[in-house]
Amino acid sequence: MVDVEEIDLKNVNLEKYDKKVGDSKDFVCVICPNSCRLHVEVGPTGEVDVQGYQCKRGFEYGIQEFLQPIRMLITTMKIENGVLPVIPVRSNKEVPRERIFDAIEVVNQTVAQAPVKMGDILVDNLLDLGIHVIASRDMEAK
Ligand code: SF4
Repeated sequence: MVDVEEIDLKNVNLEKYDKKVGDSKDFVCVICPNSCRLHVEVGPTGEVDVQGYQCKRGFEYGIQEFLQPIRMLITTMKIENGVLPVIPVRSNKEVPRERIFDAIEVVNQTVAQAPVKMGDILVDNLLDLGIHVIASRDMEAK
């Protein structure tokens, strides 16, 4: 995740985030039902500017979504010896969007073993990102 509290928007390492002067993005803030329309742009001197937000959370969302979009991983995993053949799982933190398909691949190749308790870690340190995949519910053994 981008450390929005710490990042200096006048001196962003654009290369790190695969951005260049003039890049911009328009999107809707999804943090609350107000659905503010955000415009984020890299200005002529390399500074990153956000427009259209109405609060700090929206500002931070705009920076994050522009520089490094992240998404929660929510899917299912095969489980052996369970009362059901699959178990719903999720990441404990957001995953960089460009790694989501790799993350799903890891989950698809993993088979949990029942019984499982909600919150149990089923994949530790997913893709070396320091993120866990955890069970979203209990699953009894057969
Ligand atoms: S900018 Fe703030 S008020 Fe607007 S949608 Fe985002 S969270 Fe809500």
